[in-house]
Amino acid sequence: MSLFSNRGVLSSDYVPARLPFRDDQTNEVAEVLSPILHDSKPSNLLLYGKTGTGKTAVVRYVLSELRASTKTDKKDLIIAYVNTRNADTVYGVLAEFAGFLDLPEEDRIPFTGLSIAEVMKRIFRHIKSNRLHVIFVMDEIDHLVREEDGGDILYQFTRSGDRLTPGFITLVGISNDLQFKENLDSRVLSSLGEEELVFPPYTVDELRQILTERARSAFRPSVASPAAINLCAAMAGSEHGDARRAIDLLRIAGEVAEREGLKEIDDGCIRRASDKMEVDRVDEAIRSLPVQNKAILFAVSRFDGGTNTGELYIAYSSLCKKLGIETLTQRRLSGILGDLDLLGLVEASVVSKGRRGRTKKIQLLMGKDTLEKTLSEDPMFGAL
Ligand code: ADP
Ligand code: MG
Repeated sequence: MSLFSNRGVLSSDYVPARLPFRDDQTNEVAEVLSPILHDSKPSNLLLYGKTGTGKTAVVRYVLSELRASTKTDKKDLIIAYVNTRNADTVYGVLAEFAGFLDLPEEDRIPFTGLSIAEVMKRIFRHIKSNRLHVIFVMDEIDHLVREEDGGDILYQFTRSGDRLTPGFITLVGISNDLQFKENLDSRVLSSLGEEELVFPPYTVDELRQILTERARSAFRPSVASPAAINLCAAMAGSEHGDARRAIDLLRIAGEVAEREGLKEIDDGCIRRASDKMEVDRVDEAIRSLPVQNKAILFAVSRFDGGTNTGELYIAYSSLCKKLGIETLTQRRLSGILGDLDLLGLVEASVVSKGRRGRTKKIQLLMGKDTLEKTLSEDPMFGAL
């Protein structure tokens, strides 16, 4: 018999009926957007905070309340939600947005083929001529900003007022990356951030209460004890109070317990679940590296017990020849090593070598097998 009574409650896109500890944020988002109910344009709004602090959940919750409080025959109100990371490209974001607008047949946006300018023209024309009142939520907007043309598109949206009247678009940007504002044109920032809201990390105690509530509907009785929930909250909260991580940890611990034929989740399940999440995180981080970073990581793995910059550069250079890719300078290699260090994939620390000066000691932070297995999925590295 399964330990779960409703596993879906622990899935990442589940929006609970209540969001404890987020009343202030929920009220504020609702208040900023409420003018739309009286046909006037709400201010643009920017939300930011680290991952798992409830940004997406709060916004989705408010959007569904808004939808519920407007009459179904009200066709000029459009609420569009796009996750710009999932939509991948600027074109993809616009096409997904256009999907909410019900463009006339001849103006539909095909999967590919139009210029960005043409897509924008069709969207704006449609909003203007149908006097649409639009709320456009761009979740994980920092990804859009990093795309080529992403910043430019945002600029056009924030300056779109005259081109849209009597229709309008209110923009809601959500970012997990607190630094993303630095990459934004200051004019875009001041417009997008007419209203700003910061989501603080949850405390361990808040995580504990959130988990307790979820566990009640997710598991059969006595599967997730208070002690198990405490441990999940404490482990997930040790970096920053990330509710997603806490919920994932509890779900995976439940899966581990189930697979091992246990009746309840014990400490061992939770630790094994945490290890598994770490392995998955590392895998995912490796997979999404650019080819040069992969090559450098692979070169590091050729040295059991660590290496130094000079030795590594020689190994890296010959690897580049084998792969047929450009060989970067030693300086660039050092920069990329810093990135790999930040991702927790290598440790690159400066060590003193007495009179011979200082050098870097560089070490792989995962098993060589793990790295080789994940890299071999990339056709470029498969042959090695
Ligand atoms: P963010 O968008 O800030 O990264 P999410 O809104 O996706 O975070 O939240 C991550 C997970 O934690 C989701 O499953 C969400 O339902 C849950 N969650 C976040 N805040 C709360 C809360 N206050 N109460 C209950 N569940 C929450
Ligand atoms: Mg989110």
